[in-house]
Amino acid sequence: MRLALHWQIFLGMIIGAGVGLSLNATVSQRRWSSTSQTKLPPGMTSVTTLDSPDLIEIKIEGDKPRTLVVDGSRKTPDSVATLKLLAASDQDAHDVFFLFGRSPARRVGDLANRLGRLFLRMLQMVSVPLIVTSLLTGVMGLGSASRLKSMFGRTMAYYLTTSLLAICTGLFMVNAIRPGLRGEQSAGQQKPSVGDNLSDVLWGQVNNMIPQNPFNALASTSLLAIICFTIAFGVFALRRGGATADRVRELASAGFDVMMDMTMAIIRLAPLGVLFLMLYVTATQGPDVFRALFWYVLSVFGALVIHALIVLPLILIFVAKRNPIEFARAMSPALVTAFSSASSNGTLPLTMASVEKRAGVDNRVSSFVLPLGATINMDGTALYEAVAVLFIAQLYHGHNLEISQQLIVAFTALLASVGAAGIPHAGLVMMVIILRAVDLPLDMQGIILAVDRVLDMCRTSVNVWSDSCGCAVVARFESAASKAAAT
Ligand code: ASP
Repeated sequence: MRLALHWQIFLGMIIGAGVGLSLNATVSQRRWSSTSQTKLPPGMTSVTTLDSPDLIEIKIEGDKPRTLVVDGSRKTPDSVATLKLLAASDQDAHDVFFLFGRSPARRVGDLANRLGRLFLRMLQMVSVPLIVTSLLTGVMGLGSASRLKSMFGRTMAYYLTTSLLAICTGLFMVNAIRPGLRGEQSAGQQKPSVGDNLSDVLWGQVNNMIPQNPFNALASTSLLAIICFTIAFGVFALRRGGATADRVRELASAGFDVMMDMTMAIIRLAPLGVLFLMLYVTATQGPDVFRALFWYVLSVFGALVIHALIVLPLILIFVAKRNPIEFARAMSPALVTAFSSASSNGTLPLTMASVEKRAGVDNRVSSFVLPLGATINMDGTALYEAVAVLFIAQLYHGHNLEISQQLIVAFTALLASVGAAGIPHAGLVMMVIILRAVDLPLDMQGIILAVDRVLDMCRTSVNVWSDSCGCAVVARFESAASKAAAT
């Protein structure tokens, strides 16, 4: 008997995390001393190295005891950025690390990462052709440009409503738990990447919708541009009608069928992909990924859970008239992949395949709602932004922000989530905009960096879950509209 795909993926996740955590606990640190077999350079009595994905720490005891940190993102002021620079500043330390290499946990983690990325690459490979053919099939299937208009309105209404509900849930949790007012927090020191101001970001999104060269947009995977151009192409094909529209429709649907088969074949590899990606994260980062900043994580996580397990299911039951448990089961491959990859764009082909093949939602709806949703509908990200900024404000001011300030946070979080790309850590980068809006120091963002990955995984699943529920909601109204049109 073969296990259902979602159970296979779940198993992959558990095995990956289990193996990764055990590797991290046992072999993520290496230590050599002059008494062991290893010959250390003169003057060194012992060397300990500790490495994680973005940091290598080398501790040397001996004539000149020192601790050196190699860290690409320069979290600590006196770290060096690369091993090459370390060679220039301390040849001995570099040689020791280079000769004896990275910890076994890191080696296995890196290997797992390479393998896991192959799976993500395959998903990326099918992503653009799948979106184009699917969207074109969807638009052509609508039969008339006026149907598209009504679907656009419903989709936008859903995006806006659920994102606002998510933000409200986040604000409620952070005000109730007050994670920033619960004792000492260890502050990191990384400078966040500098973002643009809000109007620039929004204007940037408007620009992104109009590709200067649609082929360029395809080649560089600019989703918003691809979506807009494909819709425009479909609308004009519909307006021309007759044989032209038929030819476009046939070509689009033939391409779509092939892309769908390809995607389904790749999806069978999901359990392995998820296993490797989880193994990488846990082997190289260890339980710290889950442990640090407990209360803050609890607030974000609690709010995400309320949104995903109460708010969205209620919408499914009462608005979409679907059974949330069955719907979630159908969507599980996409949700678990979103969790392990932390990228809703990367997961998009899987989301589309699951919604259509497993949840039975009409392609005309999903091909429109999902690609657009992956780019602009991010409930999890909006919620996370709001909670994170209020947490930072609590730490910084020692009290909660006033209601008016919280409203500014809510509004900017909504816009920032629209502007965030569906890639890992995009939400963290966009947060700069909100911090600026309420005059909080940008470097306080360093505090939440350590746990960003695990929260990113959770919020990305919620982003994908909300997009999928959106499909069910819009599909229900669409089918009602087509029934009404038929009678
Ligand atoms: N990683 C998220 C996504 O792909 C975006 C974010 O960083 O919040 O949906």
